[in-house]
Amino acid sequence: MPNVLLSLGSNTSSITLNSVGLLTFGVDELMQAGQMPLIVSSLYRSPAVGPGYQPDFYNAAALIKTSLSPLKLLKLIKQIEHAAGRRGALFWGPRPLDIDIIDYNGQVLNWRRSHGPGGVVAPGAIAGWRPLGRGKVRPLTLPHGEMQRRVFVLKPVAEIAHKWRHPLFKLDANHLMALCCSPLAIRATEKLEKFWQV
Ligand code: ADP
Ligand code: MG
Repeated sequence: MPNVLLSLGSNTSSITLNSVGLLTFGVDELMQAGQMPLIVSSLYRSPAVGPGYQPDFYNAAALIKTSLSPLKLLKLIKQIEHAAGRRGALFWGPRPLDIDIIDYNGQVLNWRRSHGPGGVVAPGAIAGWRPLGRGKVRPLTLPHGEMQRRVFVLKPVAEIAHKWRHPLFKLDANHLMALCCSPLAIRATEKLEKFWQV
């Protein structure tokens, strides 16, 4: 069965749950739908990046085995986000629950070669590829189109998936993090306790 790396994030409460409760809800719902996690990372807390004041983000990563196709899994994820109270949100805006497919068995989908400046991360480092689509209008992109520049995704992934390599850039999560992110941003993403035991 395909191995899938997921990233979960939350920075607002719902009526009944705070961010940590919403992440737990997300993993619970995945399990209810037959998507059993093999491992779930610790919680990470980071200051929000985005428009205006926003509460801190809580993030985690999970590794699952799935029998769902990438599109069916995305559909399930959107149902779970909706059940958690998410309604169409601003790009980079606050959200009760965000679940992203970081990697689906190393599959590459909807990336194209990029020539010249505007490569995906540090110019000259791992430039050369760019995800299709921007903002809200994004076809399912695998691996996730922005993960290589998000500390709050890379840090939990590095904790649970030592052998994982980015299928296009051929680098592991720690290496991607060193390329994309300032030491300050890396330090600001703080590892907290385990919130889920498999
Ligand atoms: P992000 O999670 O990157 O902060 P959103 O959750 O608002 O942003 O996602 C915007 C759109 O990106 C979603 O409607 C979803 O269909 C699409 N998308 C494309 N690739 C992926 C992926 N690998 N995982 C999750 N969503 C994706
Ligand atoms: Mg998302």
